[in-house]
Amino acid sequence: MRRIFPDHAYSNARIAGCYWADTVSDAALSRPALKGAQKADVAIIGAGFTGLSAALALAEAGVSVSVLEAGFPGWGASGRNGGFCCLGGAKASDAMLDRQHGKPARLAYRRAEASAINHVADTLEKHSIQADVHSKGETQLAHNARVNFEKDARAIEENYGVTPTLHTREELPALGMSGQFHSAITTPVGFGLNPRKYLAGLLKAAEAAGVQVFGQSPVNKINRAQKYSLATPQGTLEAEQLIVATNGYSSEDVPEWMAARYMPAQSSVIVTRELTETELANGWNSDQTAYDSRTLLHYFRLMPNRRFLFGMRGGLMSTKASEARNRRQIRADFEAMFPAWSQVETPFYWSGMVCLAAGLTPFAGPVPEMSGAYAGFAYHGNGVAMGSYTGALLADQILGANKLHTPKLMAKPPKRFPLGRARRALMYGVYAGAALKDL
Ligand SMILES: Cc1cc2nc3c(=O)[nH]c(=O)nc-3n(C[C@H](O)[C@H](O)[C@H](O)COP(=O)(O)OP(=O)(O)OC[C@H]3O[C@@H](n4cnc5c(N)ncnc54)[C@H](O)[C@@H]3O)c2cc1C
Repeated sequence: MRRIFPDHAYSNARIAGCYWADTVSDAALSRPALKGAQKADVAIIGAGFTGLSAALALAEAGVSVSVLEAGFPGWGASGRNGGFCCLGGAKASDAMLDRQHGKPARLAYRRAEASAINHVADTLEKHSIQADVHSKGETQLAHNARVNFEKDARAIEENYGVTPTLHTREELPALGMSGQFHSAITTPVGFGLNPRKYLAGLLKAAEAAGVQVFGQSPVNKINRAQKYSLATPQGTLEAEQLIVATNGYSSEDVPEWMAARYMPAQSSVIVTRELTETELANGWNSDQTAYDSRTLLHYFRLMPNRRFLFGMRGGLMSTKASEARNRRQIRADFEAMFPAWSQVETPFYWSGMVCLAAGLTPFAGPVPEMSGAYAGFAYHGNGVAMGSYTGALLADQILGANKLHTPKLMAKPPKRFPLGRARRALMYGVYAGAALKDL
């Protein structure tokens, strides 16, 4: 696997302090490696939300499916994210989408973002997955007085067909939203969940439907004769059809088509100890999932067990030293936003990869020039709902069922980023520009 970050980015060091492992252990998710020569109708690379959702939908339709995962199911972003099951998936603005794809395509896509959330809610219910769900939609908070959410409110109505609520600065404390905020807008769509409990539930449902899931099975090479043959260190898997579901953990050569079509970017999270009643009274105590209005945003939520989760973008490097710097930065941002909690310990810190595409929209479709191969990736940091939905869309495409209607703009294969394997350098300019805008 040729990947574009240093090895540290793909190491277990990045999840050593992951809070979710205290709720569902790595061992509980571990699965044995693929050994010898095996066969399936459909092979899936990557056991995160995308891969497992596709596997579940295909198996429920009677297809034989094997999933190959380099670590353990959920080792990637799906087992270490913030647990915001929220709108999003594209980073492109409405104006950009209208320009590039037309307004009808934009609206069809935005409605799919809402369908993605419903898809997760339905999956939780259908498979009786207890995932510590909370929050009635999501609240965005203004980080400075210049932010005006009125225009956003109109866009939300048009895009999602729901009416958001605007909150003034004075109203925020009574809503439990104390902090350095100037106003807010609540969109009544989305919720928070424990991502590992959701992942574990998906895995259980997929296996109960007949899916074989192999851990410790990195696909090093994809060969194609009459069928696809995937080579792992201890075995091979032959299949008629293939789904690549590797998102921010993708590599340039699995398959070669992926080269330069994805941009991994880092995100990081801290979690507090359980907060006392007094601390909650003095700080934030809303159950809403929330994020601020910065381009390089912070996302945060008080979990049902009264621990507070706070996340933001990660650094541009990935070394032991850069992680230590990043941990200091996220702690400083947490204290700046919630000064009442400057003495509250945050014993958990971890980070991982999200994924961007050059067109700033997600992809769910056939891989050009690879008959029978499909890929789903680039959720721009919002893949709990959109990754899960993309898996279902890919299964739908393979089955020819046409039940879900993949939005046209998601079926458009992503273009390559400039600079090839050196493309991470582009992010320095992007982050610098965003930081200026956020002042
Ligand atoms: C810190 C953090 C916080 C986040 N917070 C949120 C949030 O609150 N809400 C939200 O919506 N999104 C969030 N995201 C993004 C979200 O987690 C992802 O978009 C989503 O999990 C992607 O799912 P996936 O299945 O496509 O990829 P992943 O879960 O990343 O899974 C890809 C898997 O592919 C495997 N793999 C890669 N190459 C190979 C290979 N060659 N052979 C075998 N296996 C391979 C990897 O080991 C990995 O497990 C966050 C991400 C991070 C890192």
